[in-house]
Amino acid sequence: MSKQTHAFQAEVAQLLHLVTHSLYSNQEIFLRELISNASDACDKLRFEALNNNGLYEDAPDLQVRLSFDKAAKTLTITDNGIGMTAQEAIDHLGTIAKSGTKDFVSKLSGDQKSDAQLIGQFGVGFYSGFIVADKITVETRRAGAAAAEGVRWISGGTGDFEVETITRNERGTSVILHLREEALDYANTWKLKEIVGKYSDHISLPILMEKEEWKDGDLIEPNNEEGGRQPGGMVKTGEWETINKASALWTRSKKDITDEQYADFYKQISRDFEAPLTWTHNRVEGSTEYTQLLYIPSKAPQDLWNRDKKAGIKLYVKRVFIMDEAEALMPSYLRFVKGVVDSADLPLNVSRELLQESRDVKAIREGCTKRVLSMLEDLAKHDKAPQASAEVTDVLSDEDKAKIGQYSKFYAEFGAVLKEGLGEDFANKDRLSKLLRFASSTHDTVSVSFADYKARMKDGQDAIYYITADTLAAAKNSPQLEVFKKKGIEVLLMTDRVDEWALNFVHEFDGTPLQSVAKGAFDLGKLQDEEEKKAAEDAAETFKPVLAKLKEALKDKAEDVRVTSRLVDSPACLVVTDDGMSMQLARMLKQAGQSAPEVKPVLEVNPEHALVKKLDGSVHFHDLAHILFDQALLAEGGLPADPAAYVKRVNALLS
Ligand code: ADP
Repeated sequence: MSKQTHAFQAEVAQLLHLVTHSLYSNQEIFLRELISNASDACDKLRFEALNNNGLYEDAPDLQVRLSFDKAAKTLTITDNGIGMTAQEAIDHLGTIAKSGTKDFVSKLSGDQKSDAQLIGQFGVGFYSGFIVADKITVETRRAGAAAAEGVRWISGGTGDFEVETITRNERGTSVILHLREEALDYANTWKLKEIVGKYSDHISLPILMEKEEWKDGDLIEPNNEEGGRQPGGMVKTGEWETINKASALWTRSKKDITDEQYADFYKQISRDFEAPLTWTHNRVEGSTEYTQLLYIPSKAPQDLWNRDKKAGIKLYVKRVFIMDEAEALMPSYLRFVKGVVDSADLPLNVSRELLQESRDVKAIREGCTKRVLSMLEDLAKHDKAPQASAEVTDVLSDEDKAKIGQYSKFYAEFGAVLKEGLGEDFANKDRLSKLLRFASSTHDTVSVSFADYKARMKDGQDAIYYITADTLAAAKNSPQLEVFKKKGIEVLLMTDRVDEWALNFVHEFDGTPLQSVAKGAFDLGKLQDEEEKKAAEDAAETFKPVLAKLKEALKDKAEDVRVTSRLVDSPACLVVTDDGMSMQLARMLKQAGQSAPEVKPVLEVNPEHALVKKLDGSVHFHDLAHILFDQALLAEGGLPADPAAYVKRVNALLS
């Protein structure tokens, strides 16, 4: 193939413009990106070679070499990984394939300074080479292809690039950066070693550089005034040395890894630019042996709610990279966990399908799930600062102090996803219930656990009361809560969309049943005294005729009409039967376009309320009855079936 010119995809051109026109505080990330690509290329070769050993040709030792040529002003990163065909070079180095990079481009604000900072944190893969180079030459040959099928790719980082066929004996890829004047510093052994140490120590592949040695300058005649030797310089020796630790981070011992290294590794594998909230790193021994390094991110990704989103676990087998997003290793409700599992037992040629059936994988998945839950339990335990007593705070270790507030942070981001586990992971249901947190009628922040609630229960209270609603305000001000407020009984406020669904799987906590305040007949059991009960019964008796009329007027809307003592300030409210679907869930299903049974609620009226007292004998009885019902519906977040009719009735009464 003779020289061809191709245009970059529009997004790439946009990205390149930014890369070449911004000033970076940490330009050096280009090296991390290019080494990471080289390492990926070697991983890919290793993987393909499992079925075709010939791909190693005569160079079985995978490695990355860094070299520079001061005179030519070039810095070259060479790997003997999988390499690229001409078509691959055109496709991969002319478009943006990775969703990570696409996301990045979509985040660009157009403001140079903040965008540049974003690049520094995020990295933009291959294209970051243009941060330091005004021209990049890539020479590559796909493993297994003939030497004559080498490819040269050249671009100045503007609108287009050139591709031509070359002869290249070595398999793999050389990325030759033609350094800009102001980036010539990078053509320096110390500088390169320092950057590799910072970003790429955990790359499991050796990164080599040619050793240099001090060479003295020429001897100058002693009678010369300046006598002695000319300054010398570093010269290359032709010997190559490994400059990184070249051991995969997770295989190193915990005590040899700093928090910063853990965080850097997380950023690398997750493409997140914030440090993780916490992590756990363990070697598991027993019937299946594996190493797990699992991270909980600080922030939820935008696609958290996509249940098809793959898990964030990379699978390695004896340090050989096998696959990204190994969903079989983590249950769906923990899909936000990122990390690495390295198994000693799985076969190298394991496929996704095989993973689903493997007993070892099942054991790993259970082990990883337990670890994540323990990690969360530990955070939850230390979430609240101990009651301010000097002695107690003093004995807290620094490690535990750092955990204060972490669980709340986690819960705000991922709590709702965690709840999916109640229906998904029966084996861990109890542990998960303990990890739940809610706001309550007495606590505005989402911080109340079932155990906290139980500890505050009133004497004689025999249920955990809760209400579900679309918003915190709706829950807090719901009429159903009135008598609870009056009696000082705490009610949990559940406002996550998944709550209704999740509650189908939790009926009790530690022996105490959960009771919705909007379901079933009102019964506070021992919390009501005899006098109150008697008054309620009397009211029901005297109200019988009115109730019968109400029932008749509302027969299309209400399943039943009865008096209640759960209301204090409101005239009426709606409840559903004990085993009925809540009105809120029915609404949610409808909104989601799913079929939901028609819920006919029970209208409960407050016999003490002036409006209700007025009903008897009123000429407006029919209108009042409908207004009562529709208002009760509004109060709990619903909409009257015929809003215009409701408005008409209210206006008629107002005027
Ligand atoms: P990413 O690494 O996020 O996919 P890059 O822009 O860094 O994005 O690279 C794009 C693609 O180019 C890679 O996915 C890979 O297919 C190819 N590539 C880049 N560098 C190399 C390399 N050294 N060897 C083989 N392929 C490479």
